[in-house]
Amino acid sequence: MTTSLRCTCGSDSGWQLLELAPGLPASTCRDCGGSLLALDDYRRWRDRGATLPEMSLAGDRVDLPTASAAEGARHCPRCTRLMQRLRIGAPVDFRVDRCGPCQQVWLDRGEWQALQRAGLATRLLEVLSDGWQRQLQADDARARREVALRERHGDDRMQELARMRAWLDEQPQRDELLALLRAGW
Ligand SMILES: [Zn+2]
Repeated sequence: MTTSLRCTCGSDSGWQLLELAPGLPASTCRDCGGSLLALDDYRRWRDRGATLPEMSLAGDRVDLPTASAAEGARHCPRCTRLMQRLRIGAPVDFRVDRCGPCQQVWLDRGEWQALQRAGLATRLLEVLSDGWQRQLQADDARARREVALRERHGDDRMQELARMRAWLDEQPQRDELLALLRAGW
């Protein structure tokens, strides 16, 4: 089954069927250590209760290959089509690659462990969903807008504005007060 896979690292060292977690098999490249995970296998693992091994949570440091974030899109090891790069988002921002037609996910060495530390190993389908990806984009847009507003008005004014908004939001007659403010009553 694994012989027809071609790793994106270009190695011909072959594949090993390893378990990312008990009952969750993935084809792992003997050379780069990256893993190809079939989403069907992942779903079955989830349906059976998604057992994760205990792992040390000492330190928040996540060891990821530095090349991971910078690299461009990968080709699917199965069908060679370009895979979709999907963001994980906070608290660790890296990307995993998905081949939609093959329903496979590529994880660089260390990325499964990073997902586990982030508490997202059992939520991979959610992370890959359009909703999750849209939310990340919306968060980015909001952060960029916040930076632009702070540049335009300065930190102090924006802070004061946030304080006023919070106060207004607490008032039962919020809209009336806001209208008074605008009209100069
Ligand atoms: Zn594919």
